[in-house]
Amino acid sequence: MKIQFLGAIREVTGSKHLITTEDGLKLLLDCGMYQGKGLETDADNRDLGFNPSEIDYIILSHAHIDHSGLIPFVVKNGFNGTIVCTHATRDLCAILLSDSGRIQEHDTHTHNKKRAKEGLPALDPLYTIQDAESALQCFVSVSYGKVFKISKEISVKFTDNGHILGSSSVNLVFLKNGEEKRLCYTGDIGRQNNLILKTPQPFPQADYIITESTYGDRLHDHRTQSEKRLQEVIVNTCVKKKGKLIIPAFSVGRTQEVVYSIHLLMDKGWLPKIKVYVDSPLSVNATNIMRMHPESFNEEMLNRMETDSDPFGFNNLTYVRSEEDSKRLNNIQEPCIIISASGMMEAGRVKHHLANSISNPKNTILVVGYCSPRTLGARIRRGDKEVSIYGIKYTVKADVQILESYSAHGDYAEMMLFLSCQDKKKIKQIFLVHGEYETQLHYKKSLEENWFNNIMIPEKGQEVII
Ligand SMILES: [Zn+2]
Repeated sequence: MKIQFLGAIREVTGSKHLITTEDGLKLLLDCGMYQGKGLETDADNRDLGFNPSEIDYIILSHAHIDHSGLIPFVVKNGFNGTIVCTHATRDLCAILLSDSGRIQEHDTHTHNKKRAKEGLPALDPLYTIQDAESALQCFVSVSYGKVFKISKEISVKFTDNGHILGSSSVNLVFLKNGEEKRLCYTGDIGRQNNLILKTPQPFPQADYIITESTYGDRLHDHRTQSEKRLQEVIVNTCVKKKGKLIIPAFSVGRTQEVVYSIHLLMDKGWLPKIKVYVDSPLSVNATNIMRMHPESFNEEMLNRMETDSDPFGFNNLTYVRSEEDSKRLNNIQEPCIIISASGMMEAGRVKHHLANSISNPKNTILVVGYCSPRTLGARIRRGDKEVSIYGIKYTVKADVQILESYSAHGDYAEMMLFLSCQDKKKIKQIFLVHGEYETQLHYKKSLEENWFNNIMIPEKGQEVII
């Protein structure tokens, strides 16, 4: 059996790992899109490294676009197999992939206008909304912990890894000549103290582990510290400076966590009455899907729901759907909090809020998530004094604050704790993926110091026989 590492190799987006069995069956673990590499991204996304029509199954760890975003492209180009994932992942893919199709159509349209001026022919989008909708026909969803038979010899079981709603570790068992090989693909590993979701659950003993390493060199703040910091930032911005607080946040997970945190702070009486807007149709839809999947919630959240039927709603909070209402927020003079997507600030309505607010020192931009290099978010995060939004240059005068602890990715101690359910002596090999190379070297060292052995950092395209 062979694993080929095709994406999110020594970087954090574009997750794709191809398994080919001795019988020639091809399973693709995740089908993620590369994000945030400017013009290179499109070329990288079109160069899959495999023929879609030859893939029998796609096993999807979770719905984030850097793990699922190329599914419509692959289906459009001949994939005719089955996509297996959890129920919540399927529901989230229904909204996230269509949204991605909309972005592809929009960006290509803008790009083609420029090309037309230069006399160049128009390009096709990577895929359209229609392609994304068609791709949903291929999905089959399974509950956590249930064994799904791919063939007589191969089975898959999803275990909850607490990263986002529906996210999972993929546990594969291959049976050949009476011998079992067990492979776990951890997917993205969540936090130990997520405000809403369950703690990452132990997974069955594996012989081979493909694991993420995003924060392999970092330790996050504890949750209570982040609550305190969030309160400080809100008070400083909205009470002392009387400004606007812009929180760019991923539609799935981060938005609901920030909303719920503000809800808790208000309940405790730690915040004055401030208007809060969630301005993203996608975030509104994602919040509705979240409400439908309490199977992923932790006990604290389930207990709360016994007395509070909607933890994602409170007085002073408005969910904004229409474009007109979104634009109207630009005219608000009073202090307020605007939570808007996308988290990396490359797309979505957050861009017009940034354009409107970034040059006023009264305002604050609060970065609550990872931004891959070369995104607008990364430039704002690292403190650039001038940034370009919609092709116009803006001086950054607003305060920029970073709150790392809302990350949906565990830090290296949390990732190691997640792996500690395994008998280390039984692991034949660990492959590190989904991390920058320097970070991976650091994480590899930490793992070795904790008696994990045979750790490999594969190169892009590398094939390993197991
Ligand atoms: Zn993820």
